[in-house]
Amino acid sequence: MYAGSKAFFYALSHNATLRRLASQYGLATSESFASRFIAGETIEAAIEASRRLQSQGLLITLDYLGERVRTVEESAAATREYMRLMDIIVDAGIERNISLKVTQLGIDVDRATCVDNLRRILEPAARHEFFIRIDMENSPYTERTLEIFETLWEHQYRNLGVALQSYLYRTEGDVRRMNELGARVRLVKGAYKERSSVAYQQKGEVNAAFVRLARVLLDEGTYPAIATHDPGVIEEIRAYASARGIAKDRFEFQMLYGIRRDLQASLVAAGHRMRVYVPFGREWFPYFMRRLGERPANVGFVLTALVRER
Ligand SMILES: Cc1cc2nc3c(=O)[nH]c(=O)nc-3n(C[C@H](O)[C@H](O)[C@H](O)COP(=O)(O)OP(=O)(O)OC[C@H]3O[C@@H](n4cnc5c(N)ncnc54)[C@H](O)[C@@H]3O)c2cc1C
Repeated sequence: MYAGSKAFFYALSHNATLRRLASQYGLATSESFASRFIAGETIEAAIEASRRLQSQGLLITLDYLGERVRTVEESAAATREYMRLMDIIVDAGIERNISLKVTQLGIDVDRATCVDNLRRILEPAARHEFFIRIDMENSPYTERTLEIFETLWEHQYRNLGVALQSYLYRTEGDVRRMNELGARVRLVKGAYKERSSVAYQQKGEVNAAFVRLARVLLDEGTYPAIATHDPGVIEEIRAYASARGIAKDRFEFQMLYGIRRDLQASLVAAGHRMRVYVPFGREWFPYFMRRLGERPANVGFVLTALVRER
């Protein structure tokens, strides 16, 4: 079921008709079905959502949604949008933390385009003390993403971190590779449909790998981000950190906008750093479909919202 539902929603996420229909209705009002997971289509809506979260003691990272860009022009437009976003964030005075994807910045055009675009973002980011996190996409991009990350790291861009996925067999090696650099890792379970030749298929195996890797990051990593909504996994990690005397300011938890807000609040109340990933923008459909694939019960939630809107 776990792998099956992911595959089903992954296939739907590339359906043009569904995408068009959803885009028309999904964020039409603040009650619309996608509003629970997406902060809005505009930067202004994302800033407003971030202010609200920060006022509750939460940290934020902003993600301008977009992926699988095929042309130089589209990748340049995404880069300009990130630069504009940084200017607006500085003016708004909210936290300076951004997440982005290499397929949004042109890796499918060619590597040089992607590196150039990233450097155009990283220059002002360094000047204004932003932290930039590179999300991890599906496995054909893993090695290329890490190589680009290392190239930028060699060029002394240190306001930069990357995400690694516990469902991939290779991730143990990648965790060590990033720890040796002293780079900040966000650990996630992994949101894409992957084959059994590269990734664990059973939830139990993915969870066990997550806890194992989180421990290595806590012991040897640099300010790791533990990104999950899984209460059992979170408890194991809290117990481990506390038993090892690892202070609460040496790592942070992260969750997605609109998911387990109760757990987000309780971690803040327990004195943990808790960062919310705030996605916004017009290209929200594939992101939204990944959220449905993780938890098919969300389909019920979407349908209820649709019925309410009629
Ligand atoms: C901050 C952050 C950044 C991320 N970045 C990446 C990335 O770069 N690359 C990548 O591949 N993946 C990324 N992910 C997604 C991640 O890989 C998982 O797909 C996602 O977090 C669901 O897994 P889980 O750890 O929450 O555990 P699960 O075992 O899927 O869920 C545990 C519990 O969390 C709750 N929950 C989980 N998902 C949902 C949902 N969609 N709706 C409602 N409740 C839910 C439920 O209560 C569920 O029982 C990111 C996740 C977070 C939190």
